[in-house]
Amino acid sequence: MRPSSTPADASLQQELHQDGRRLTPQRRKVLDLFKHRGSGCHLSAEEVHQQLSALETKVSLATVYRTLRLLADMGFLQELELKEGGRRFELAVDDHRDHHHVVCIRCGRTEEFESESVLKAGAEAAQKFGFQLLESSLNVRAICSRCQT
Ligand SMILES: [Zn+2]
Ligand SMILES: [Zn+2]
Repeated sequence: MRPSSTPADASLQQELHQDGRRLTPQRRKVLDLFKHRGSGCHLSAEEVHQQLSALETKVSLATVYRTLRLLADMGFLQELELKEGGRRFELAVDDHRDHHHVVCIRCGRTEEFESESVLKAGAEAAQKFGFQLLESSLNVRAICSRCQT
């Protein structure tokens, strides 16, 4: 887990400026939660809601959903869509984009890994069909050791 660095913050400020949308105190609170946990932390809306409640911040689950979606649209968060696990969000950090996920389909535990060969295969496939590459990411569905018993 790497703490968010200054260059990333600077680019976040820029995106905010270009976009024209504001970080309200509530949105900031949700974003701070992710920043506090650092990159590589994948949270569902329910988990964000729980953690806000633990901080005695009263926000409805519906508002958390909306806020997460908005923060993703604004480029602050990256969205990870999982077939069984629903949606999870993580901090969007420039030097932490090209990674992949192994996800437990029972409990949602999410681990990251890096793979040059996945990136290479993605780049080659895009090139083969004349597509402009945006990102290559792989989500591996699995059952974690705790859920196997
Ligand atoms: Zn991740
Ligand atoms: Zn599990």
